Amino acid sequence: MEIPSIPLNTGAALPIFGLGTWQVKDDKELKTALRTALDAGYKLIDTAHIYKNEHIIGEVLHEYISTGKLKREEIFITTKLPLVAHAPEDVEKCVNGQLEALKLDYIDLYLIHCPCPCKHQEGSWFPLADDDGKLVFDTETTHIDTWKELEKLFHAGKLRALGVSRFSARQLEELYDLADVKPANIQVECHIYWQQENLRRLCGKLGVSLTAFAPLGSPGRKASRPDGNWPDGNPLLDPLVLTLAKKYRKSQAQILIRFLTQNGISVIPKSVNPQRIVENISSSDFELSEEDMHALEDKGKTRIKLFNLDFAIGHPLYPEED
Ligand code: NAP
Repeated sequence: MEIPSIPLNTGAALPIFGLGTWQVKDDKELKTALRTALDAGYKLIDTAHIYKNEHIIGEVLHEYISTGKLKREEIFITTKLPLVAHAPEDVEKCVNGQLEALKLDYIDLYLIHCPCPCKHQEGSWFPLADDDGKLVFDTETTHIDTWKELEKLFHAGKLRALGVSRFSARQLEELYDLADVKPANIQVECHIYWQQENLRRLCGKLGVSLTAFAPLGSPGRKASRPDGNWPDGNPLLDPLVLTLAKKYRKSQAQILIRFLTQNGISVIPKSVNPQRIVENISSSDFELSEEDMHALEDKGKTRIKLFNLDFAIGHPLYPEED
């Protein structure tokens, strides 16, 4: 299946569709998901240091590349810098470890995962917590401090494009103005209930691509931190989405994915279910009418944000739109 792509400001092509891997740490489950996805034509895999699965992805990539099933240049890997490795002396060390885990000599797109740097424990990338279990904030490192280190790795060819995640529009613009290597992508929560209208306008102006995380509304999100503060909402069960699924004879997930990609937004739905992995990629063989696109756009007025950075409240670099 041909996956359309979005041009990055580096000249590279970002596949508009890929596989998310958050919360998938089980070796067998992730390997099955990855093999199903690659066999079905997925060209983009999204991971992060904090997902603790880069080594599993590395094994499957090695298996496919070494047997000639896949060429390195045919697959696009996005991964992210953990919030505990923003300090300039930590950045390269962390990236090198990720390259080793992924068994790659370059990463296609590398994002600062979170705008709120925190301290790590001595000698490990585990976060440092105070006596109350709260993360210890790194209040010295600025975004541009971290970015300058990433730019060096970009020029060395280890990182082919740079970006950010969960930054506010203001933070993205500030970084954009200071950066020599301009951000190529921002990854943020984006679905019918939280459509990121302001940020999308800014991205259009700056030529920064936008990737939607939680495009299906992340129905399994609460399992990651059962004691976290998680707003309720499930776009997969929205009455309009159910009606459109019947009308187009597609699944609710396919309607949600198509709505975003038809708007030029790249999406990375996560699934470990082989049937859904194939279902999700089959969202490009139909088109939503203008009227139905407008009706789905109207759902943006609901303004339900399903994720928040509750663990970083009070951080001087907290993204204020949150
Ligand atoms: P999501 O992709 O919106 O939703 C994933 C959930 O939907 C899983 O529980 C999955 O269950 C289920 N699902 C998948 N396909 C389905 C289908 N066709 N029908 C019904 N249910 C389906 O949420 P997400 O995983 O939170 O976000 C996607 C990716 O974005 C992540 O995996 C991660 O790579 C990235 N992300 C980034 C950040 C960030 O801070 N930058 C934050 C969150 C996520 P099954 O696995 O059982 O199918």
